[in-house]
Amino acid sequence: MPESLALHGGPKAVQTTFPWPIFDETEVQAVADVIRSGQWGNPDCTGLVEVFEREFANYCGAKYAVSCVNGSVSLRLALIACGITPGDEVIGPPYTFIATASTIIEANAVPVFVDIDPETYNLDPAKIEAAITPRTKAIIPVHFAGQACDMDAILDIAKRHNLRVIEDAAHAHGAEYKGRKLGSIGDAGSFSFQSSKNLTSGEGGIVITNDADLYRKMASLRNVGRLPEGAWYDHFLPGCNYRLTPMQAVLLSHQLKRLDEQTKLRNQNGLLLNELLSSIEGITPLTRGHGETMHCHHLYIFKYDSARFQNLPKEKFVEMLAAEGVPCFKGYPYPLYKQPLFQEKNFMCYALPETASYAEVVCPVAERACGEEAVWILQHAMLGTREDMAAFALAIRKIQNAVRI
Ligand SMILES: *Cc1c(COP(=O)(O)O)cnc(C)c1O
Repeated sequence: MPESLALHGGPKAVQTTFPWPIFDETEVQAVADVIRSGQWGNPDCTGLVEVFEREFANYCGAKYAVSCVNGSVSLRLALIACGITPGDEVIGPPYTFIATASTIIEANAVPVFVDIDPETYNLDPAKIEAAITPRTKAIIPVHFAGQACDMDAILDIAKRHNLRVIEDAAHAHGAEYKGRKLGSIGDAGSFSFQSSKNLTSGEGGIVITNDADLYRKMASLRNVGRLPEGAWYDHFLPGCNYRLTPMQAVLLSHQLKRLDEQTKLRNQNGLLLNELLSSIEGITPLTRGHGETMHCHHLYIFKYDSARFQNLPKEKFVEMLAAEGVPCFKGYPYPLYKQPLFQEKNFMCYALPETASYAEVVCPVAERACGEEAVWILQHAMLGTREDMAAFALAIRKIQNAVRI
């Protein structure tokens, strides 16, 4: 008799709970100090925002950082500073959060979707060139789940076609490609500090670059079009108030000190889970070995094959796994181009018709990932012990045994 599933009232396979965010009195005190100082915002007399920007740039090995209100705005700052203008096309993956594509629309440009690699769920470089037209201006590789994109191949294509590369590193704080921090490799790298992300202040974002001109433009766009050394009432660019606050900045400075250890732990647990799950029939972890020297596992993703689970649908499997105590999610139900936003073209479009229609777009790998295949384990669960990882594997086996009866 197999053990009864937690979903049906049996004992949970995983007894641990996984807290997030992680903090102690240091963070509480630091934010309280800002509150007591009365220096809550602009002009930032505390200097804490600039301090954090420098810390984060240094951490990533980049020259400059511009913090802002969230990781969507940081993408928008990069796109506009890179000179993306109405009618331009920007290539990105369809298996990502909406912001990767919606910020392209906000820049009055046209998102062009290129399918993902079935082994990594990252933008497939082999499919990029077929999507390039004379109007293509940039590529946005998303380091999905915290796994590095094939940056050598992407940079090579970008160079040959004179395209900008903006890394969407919203999942990738602290992760590395061939020893370099993600976000520091392309023209600009964008990060989110939203509450689910690996480094968080509830909300917030930052964009890093090594390019002095891009930095000046992004800093200005973030601060109502002012120049860094300019006068308060002189506005040069069509910017907005996208500023981070000192309370968020000081919280991030302290959280940043915890990041390296957390990243290494997630990376280690990821390698261990790869081993543990590979031996379960019908479970295939995404493959590593594409240059990701450090995977920060904002998500741990594996492929689920219902044929090995008596055709148990993915949704039901995920429901059972969650009930067993594994923090998991079924992921995006369909690729971005199927959103009403694109299908109904609910936006102003300056593009020529052939690229501005999404009715015919099909990215089979992304559709399979969304539909029957991808299961996500969430980042805070990757901060567990080796025993917790073993319990995750056991939970999956328990479900398999239960449905095989
Ligand atoms: C979270 C996220 C963003 C932007 O996030 P905000 O919620 O605006 O901070 C951008 N891209 C991806 C892939 C994300 O997951």
